Amino acid sequence: MTETGETAFRLRHGRVSAARQVPSPNHDARPPGCWPELIVIHGISLPPGEYGGPWIDRLFTNTLDPAAHPFFGEVASLRVSAHLLVRRDGELVQYVPLHRRAWHAGQSSYRGREACNDFSIGIELEGCDDEPYSDAQYHRLCATISGLALTMPGLRRANIVGHCDVAPGRKTDPGPAFDWTRLRAGLSGCELGVRAGLMD
Ligand SMILES: [Zn+2]
Repeated sequence: MTETGETAFRLRHGRVSAARQVPSPNHDARPPGCWPELIVIHGISLPPGEYGGPWIDRLFTNTLDPAAHPFFGEVASLRVSAHLLVRRDGELVQYVPLHRRAWHAGQSSYRGREACNDFSIGIELEGCDDEPYSDAQYHRLCATISGLALTMPGLRRANIVGHCDVAPGRKTDPGPAFDWTRLRAGLSGCELGVRAGLMD
């Protein structure tokens, strides 16, 4: 498998056919005139530092049991989501159709434009700021972003940033462990701007 993947990428009604669908209620309409033109990369693990459980699905579907772990009490009442999640083994999960506004970036700003959720797609990577993301995740991420750029014209020249870039001081994900150079190399055939205009 190449870095950009060999599986055909298909999109139907805002849903990626290769993704396991876990519909989240946490989304709404994008404001008039807003369409996806930015991709925000996140890192998430629940509980922090642990991988593989059902907890991210639960958080994004408002079904996380606050009693199941001490940390969950802090986040169970949040109403958050992302469009996509790439798990450690490369599995792709989708929570929100891409044309809808997912609630992933919170208070944020990109090049002076506030509220990045309005005009972005949020992709979570299962991981931690300081632990290398897996090969399978880079493969899937590059294939997914390449597919998105091919099937959504507005994203063809989109910029890709981290949550840390649009919410500095408040968010650190996907963290120093995320290899932006590797992402850039994996997308070298695309016109996408990886952290364009931002310092690496
Ligand atoms: Zn984030």
